[in-house]
Amino acid sequence: MASAERNYPKREAFGVYVHWPFCLSKCPYCDFNSHVRHQPVDQERFAAAFAAELATMRVRTGPRDPQLRRARSCYDHLAGDLAVKMFDRFIERRLLARRDDELRVTREGQNFFTCAGIDVDALDSGRRPLCRPCLDWSERRSHLGGTLGAAILDHVVARRWAVRDAKSRVVRFSATGEQKMAAWFSR
Ligand code: SF4
Repeated sequence: MASAERNYPKREAFGVYVHWPFCLSKCPYCDFNSHVRHQPVDQERFAAAFAAELATMRVRTGPRDPQLRRARSCYDHLAGDLAVKMFDRFIERRLLARRDDELRVTREGQNFFTCAGIDVDALDSGRRPLCRPCLDWSERRSHLGGTLGAAILDHVVARRWAVRDAKSRVVRFSATGEQKMAAWFSR
């Protein structure tokens, strides 16, 4: 599942209203774009054209604001493009090990987070999960939730790499802060 997600990001189910515009007669109240055809309609050709048009449609989820898409808070942890990149990197570096929706901090991860001043044992002592994958609203892939995710957002703010916007969910990174953040999770 973990490798499948890398290749095929999870999608939410969604519906599409399809209007088939050929009617036997025009209803008096109808203001749809519908057509009464007295000649046979080439339904297959119309369906093929419809399918081709649907194939070009792109469903874009999440906020429009690029800043929100880049980095925002999701409850108390980091979400958005940067958070998804960080999560992927933690998996690649084997700091986190994932099996389906189960996530755990590896020994390497424990050392890594301890070096950053994040006490994993303390974070793991409460009722909340230490770490769990959380489906990202805009990226449709996982970012890191749980007490570890929250501690990382605190870590980012404490180091002044970013500030949390008081009026929105934007987590605003400075250029330097973003570089330091990327260097931290990428190295
Ligand atoms: S309401 Fe309009 S689209 Fe529906 S059957 Fe009547 S004419 Fe056709």
